[in-house]
Amino acid sequence: MTRKRSLLLYEEACQSLVGGVNSNARAFKKVQLPPLIAKAASCDLLYDADDRKYIDYCNSWGALILGHGHPDVVAAACGQTVRGASFGLTFEGEGQLSSQIIKAIPSIEKIRFTTSGTEACMTAIRLAREITKRPNIVVFEGNYHGHAETLLPKAQGLLLLPFNDLSRLRAFFASKEARSVAAVIVEPIPSNMGLVHPVQGFLEALYEETRRSSSLLIFDEVVTGFRLGLSGAQGLYGIDPDLTCLGKIIGGGFPLAALGGKALFMDQLTPLGPVFHAGTMAGHPVGIAAGLATFAHLHSPDFYPKLHQKALRLTQPIQETLQKAKKPACLQQAGSLFTLFFGSSSVIDCHSPLDDALFAEFFQTLLVQGIFIPPTPRDVWNISSAHTEEHLDITAEAVCRFIRTAF
Ligand code: PMP
Repeated sequence: MTRKRSLLLYEEACQSLVGGVNSNARAFKKVQLPPLIAKAASCDLLYDADDRKYIDYCNSWGALILGHGHPDVVAAACGQTVRGASFGLTFEGEGQLSSQIIKAIPSIEKIRFTTSGTEACMTAIRLAREITKRPNIVVFEGNYHGHAETLLPKAQGLLLLPFNDLSRLRAFFASKEARSVAAVIVEPIPSNMGLVHPVQGFLEALYEETRRSSSLLIFDEVVTGFRLGLSGAQGLYGIDPDLTCLGKIIGGGFPLAALGGKALFMDQLTPLGPVFHAGTMAGHPVGIAAGLATFAHLHSPDFYPKLHQKALRLTQPIQETLQKAKKPACLQQAGSLFTLFFGSSSVIDCHSPLDDALFAEFFQTLLVQGIFIPPTPRDVWNISSAHTEEHLDITAEAVCRFIRTAF
């Protein structure tokens, strides 16, 4: 496969950009290839700098639930750019988007928009520490909450627990240390160790233990928010977290994220309360406009059923092939998100062993056939409403062929 221009551009980029990229996963390290250099995209297709075409299952890491360049989103974003891309002031659309979010997610009473998911999570942590006057935050292995100092695994004040381990969780909260916990932050259906379902009772236990220890429960729904349905993972599981972090989909492909939650806690942010928050680009008007245009589609009663149907059109044949082939691999799915894991027949945490070399071979095999999936063994495929049946079927065939023949 020749990617001459892409390689040249990548070499050039390496002269001035660290590692030739602006975000770690874009480096394609896990798949032993030089990274794709994007040139353009439309609907469910991505074009690289050599004008090669790929069916895109990354979709800007899940931000593009309507696919690339949806005409309504483009019109809204362009219109807003003309009217004023950024004001550094409260903008009339902010109230509309925040009230739609509040209507969709019952645990959210107040919102503060940020620019990235990282900032939303970072602000949630600062808020929890200030409210409770406690130092520690419980996080789970394999979860990801952005690259803020306070949430990187070795940060001071982070207490790392295994995900899906109910007895360790209960034992921890029975110990004296529980009284030092300001908050528990969790991806309710993690996607950053590949898609993993919480075991029965795990999220409920988090809710109970945070109530008992008077700490806050923070759901990081940067990926799952407006992806699984209007009310996110918390709606599916019927859990009422104190704070929720949102991102990706709410900005329709533009940099917009949000922290939302109970008014009692959210009102502790400045200017009402003492917990400082600010941002030149926070609540960016173009992101708000694109978000509103996206939400207009999400509110249609058949949007999510149709999206999930599309996902099943791809995943059902893969599941059937996996069952027949009886190979050490599995597909785990929640709505339009899924991961095909190689090397394990069930993945419940980040310790389940995976075959990274086989994943790299799989990724490369799909890429030469014009199919682009997220380039790490532990990430999620994102189905968008723009995926055509024809492209889903082509992809299913390519994946099933690999399963039958390659290992
Ligand atoms: N939380 C989760 C669950 C995420 O997956 C991500 C990024 N993929 C973030 C937070 C950070 O968001 P951002 O990249 O917008 O800073």
